[in-house]
Amino acid sequence: MAETLQKEPRSFWGILVRWLAGLAITGVALFIFYSYLVSRSSCHKPLDYVIGSVDSRFKISAAEFGSVAREAASRWDKGVGQDSLAEKDGAPLKINLIYDQRQAELDKLKTGSATLAESKTTLDISKENLESQVQAFNARAKEYERQVVYWNSVGGAPPEQFQALEVERKSLAAEQNRLQGLAQSLNQQVDFYNTNVSEFNQEVDSSNNKIITQGEYSSAGPVIDIYTFGDQEELRLVLMHELGHALGLDHIAGEKSIMYYFLGAQDMKNPQPLTEDLSAYTERCRFPNDVIGSLKSLYWQIMRQKQT
Ligand SMILES: [Zn+2]
Repeated sequence: MAETLQKEPRSFWGILVRWLAGLAITGVALFIFYSYLVSRSSCHKPLDYVIGSVDSRFKISAAEFGSVAREAASRWDKGVGQDSLAEKDGAPLKINLIYDQRQAELDKLKTGSATLAESKTTLDISKENLESQVQAFNARAKEYERQVVYWNSVGGAPPEQFQALEVERKSLAAEQNRLQGLAQSLNQQVDFYNTNVSEFNQEVDSSNNKIITQGEYSSAGPVIDIYTFGDQEELRLVLMHELGHALGLDHIAGEKSIMYYFLGAQDMKNPQPLTEDLSAYTERCRFPNDVIGSLKSLYWQIMRQKQT
């Protein structure tokens, strides 16, 4: 029968050394991974973005859109006191300007408002025009009356004068008719304008009561899609809000905050991250939130690579 080779029992110290070595390797590996995640975190280096597609129906060029986005980003930088966002070619985060029903409705209101303003100007001019014609008519009528009174006072007009006054009387009657017709038509136009104004105001009210998503951030892209804005100041605010989401911030209370869910009460002229926005950022960048944020973005990066 063959002898079986017995293994020498491990000594306590041998086990301890191996165990400690394993622990040290795991520790070092974890530390390297942690450092990697921290270095990826948007709290420790700027979050890169790039301007994606810009629909020309917005009547803003890609260059203009880019400059508004840069300004929105720099307002975050200034607030948090570091380079938090940077425009970079080929960056994963894209900012798009997408035209759909939302902006179409807003454009309709804008056009409606411009048309009404135009009608108002035309009506004002017509009104002034009519008034000056009425004044001229009144002056002529007064002169006619004066002459009639005069000739009557001297016992009647000679045939030539009588004839001339008759012509003027008929002409004045025709002019009066014409002016009445003009006034009537102007009144109809004013009524029509007033109806349009009240219809337009109803449309504005109903659109004001609607909460429209002006922009959206998705970490799955990652992408910021902007859908609607009234003017460049509003666009800047919408971009600041969505860039805040891209930096990992959620909605916060305080209707004047950049990260409030609804845009309206913020300072449009000079929007900047308020104390509550900045403390949300600080909280977002505190351990372990920075690492969790980085892990999330790593997850989406891997998922995207799988899809392509
Ligand atoms: Zn939001």
